[in-house]
Amino acid sequence: MIQELLNKIDAYKDEMIQIRRHLHQYPELSFEEYQTKKYILDFYKDKDCEINENVGTTGIVVKIKGKNPGPTVALRADFDAIPVQEETDLPFKSKNEGISHACGHDGHTAYLMILAKALIELKDNINGNIVIIHQHAEEKPPGGALEMIEAGCLEGVDNFFSLHLISTMPYSKVFFNEKETQAARATFKVKLTGKGSHGSEPHNGNDAILAASHLLVALQSIVSRRVKPGEMAVVTVGNFDGKGSPNVIKEKVLLEGDVRCMKDEVASLIEKEFKQITSGIASTFNVGLDLQYTQDYPVLYNDPEMTKLAMQGVKDIQKYAPEIKEVTNTPPLSASEDASQYLKIVPGSYFYVGASQVDKETYPHHNPKFDLNEDSLIIAAKAMVGVLAKYYNWN
Ligand code: MN
Repeated sequence: MIQELLNKIDAYKDEMIQIRRHLHQYPELSFEEYQTKKYILDFYKDKDCEINENVGTTGIVVKIKGKNPGPTVALRADFDAIPVQEETDLPFKSKNEGISHACGHDGHTAYLMILAKALIELKDNINGNIVIIHQHAEEKPPGGALEMIEAGCLEGVDNFFSLHLISTMPYSKVFFNEKETQAARATFKVKLTGKGSHGSEPHNGNDAILAASHLLVALQSIVSRRVKPGEMAVVTVGNFDGKGSPNVIKEKVLLEGDVRCMKDEVASLIEKEFKQITSGIASTFNVGLDLQYTQDYPVLYNDPEMTKLAMQGVKDIQKYAPEIKEVTNTPPLSASEDASQYLKIVPGSYFYVGASQVDKETYPHHNPKFDLNEDSLIIAAKAMVGVLAKYYNWN
């Protein structure tokens, strides 16, 4: 089974690259991926699998039924793009103004479509079922994963695996981390309303800039004084709208920002402290408070047992796939990802495939010049074959 599957993936390499380049040219924003959905559905329509196209706004679930009963594994790839104007000179550069696949989700979808095609052709060798989750809207909270889970995409699923191609990790290497692997994220908007007046008459106004400045400083005491040392946590105020006129006491200030941390209990603690400090400052300075605080993606938690299994599977596949040069551990990332939603429900693992360029400059994700090393798609497909081979005991 392993060799047959890998041979098919090698044979379909050109098609995989073609799919990736097509998706790359026609990127669509989260929750608006209608053409992408149509393209993926067209790919599967003549294949021997069960297709469910009513899974959230634009999500698709493809079920590959094995010949004999056995466990069900879900493999997931996201397919949305981001609002970044592409600045590469690739011949297959984005044709959609202001939108690009600058996070590499085109690569995720292309590798998984080809892996699915190969698995469908060999499904009589599978004892169990493989569920392919083609997910929309990873980039935009509340995210496509939640919608797809609510629509039932995890029903009957025992375990879950997914990966991200990462341009800033070296090509030919695969990276794993157990337990907390990516951060939980919350976003906030705080509107403080005082009273405007002339700069020469502060006693007739109520200065929202002063109140907001105290708040800005006080919020930084959450991580330094409330979160246990050693726990990862960040509170960022990224927007402080204090713009006004030099001789005017400003009436309204808006602060916006985000919060990252590695444990759900830390996320709850920060939210509680944030609300207490904010309402305390508002009351101290007697300003009106309008606070929106939203927890969006939970901590991405990799089940230790499933991660060990997946990592061993990729190590074992190296003897068939020598292009995978190293399988190793990596520390947690402070980024966030809605694969965490599936992993909250079903044990599994989310890992990284290095996608740095070999002979040209590498740019980070979400950069206008971002591009994947396309050879990393083959590594992604073969690494996932390794995971499945270990899981299903193929030889
Ligand atoms: Mn991404």
